[in-house]
Amino acid sequence: MVDRCYMSVHCRREDRQRFEAIGFSLSYGESSNSPVIEMIDEEANYAHADKMPTDIPYHGLWAAGSEYGLGNLVCDGNEYIEVPATTDGFVVLWNYRWGLPKLKGILQIRRYLKLERKVEKLFNQLREAEPKHLFSPATNCCVKCGIHAEDDLVENQPCKP
Ligand SMILES: [Zn+2]
Repeated sequence: MVDRCYMSVHCRREDRQRFEAIGFSLSYGESSNSPVIEMIDEEANYAHADKMPTDIPYHGLWAAGSEYGLGNLVCDGNEYIEVPATTDGFVVLWNYRWGLPKLKGILQIRRYLKLERKVEKLFNQLREAEPKHLFSPATNCCVKCGIHAEDDLVENQPCKP
């Protein structure tokens, strides 16, 4: 059975090959030097159900297929969670009898957000650990590696003197 959709994940640079192995490639315009990279797969069969790694940190989303809706996913390296979500926000499971959201759905969204915060915190630590450029006010160039502050790639390039 084939039912493909668009998928995107943010992961550590070092985990790039894990996602390439199941069909992802580096997102257009993304720098492979960045400590956190975005990878996409425009033809993910069933959103790679059962193929997504469960032992590395990442978060992402999948678009709708013919027979399934769209959602967000996150893994902190121990736990993997999926929640139904659109570009407008989370999809809340509804209890029609009581006219309230289902508790199970709410708890799943809370769990998802907690894991996503944890992964994003780790990603920020990786970003901050990259060597930063030191621009001279006189020349606008990095005094360590010489790159110009207005270079298009400068935001994603760590300083490598
Ligand atoms: Zn530099």
